[in-house]
Amino acid sequence: MSFQDKTLTCSDCSKSFTFSVEEQEQFQTRGYTNEPKRCPECRQARKSERNTTGGNSYGNSGSGYTPARQNYPAVCSDCGKATSVPFEPRQGRPVYCSDCYRKVKVSR
Ligand SMILES: [Zn+2]
Ligand SMILES: [Zn+2]
Repeated sequence: MSFQDKTLTCSDCSKSFTFSVEEQEQFQTRGYTNEPKRCPECRQARKSERNTTGGNSYGNSGSGYTPARQNYPAVCSDCGKATSVPFEPRQGRPVYCSDCYRKVKVSR
């Protein structure tokens, strides 16, 4: 199936714009069957509008939003150095700095 550049009319500003072959292919790979109703400028404007109003409809495609990983301050059980660990240190469980962790891992 081959594509051709199409000229469409924006439903917002009534300007005509090109729905390029590249965009058509992109649309198809994303499974969109409708042609865009708005020119790129109006689409962009709507997008940024949505973002500023705090809606998070963006990223529904499962593109993995990962929250920043929290590090907890801890003191190494082996050398007593202050360190941080990516999990909450529990009472009675030894916490090691990265150097000692490597040693402990190897010796076990
Ligand atoms: Zn427009
Ligand atoms: Zn240590």
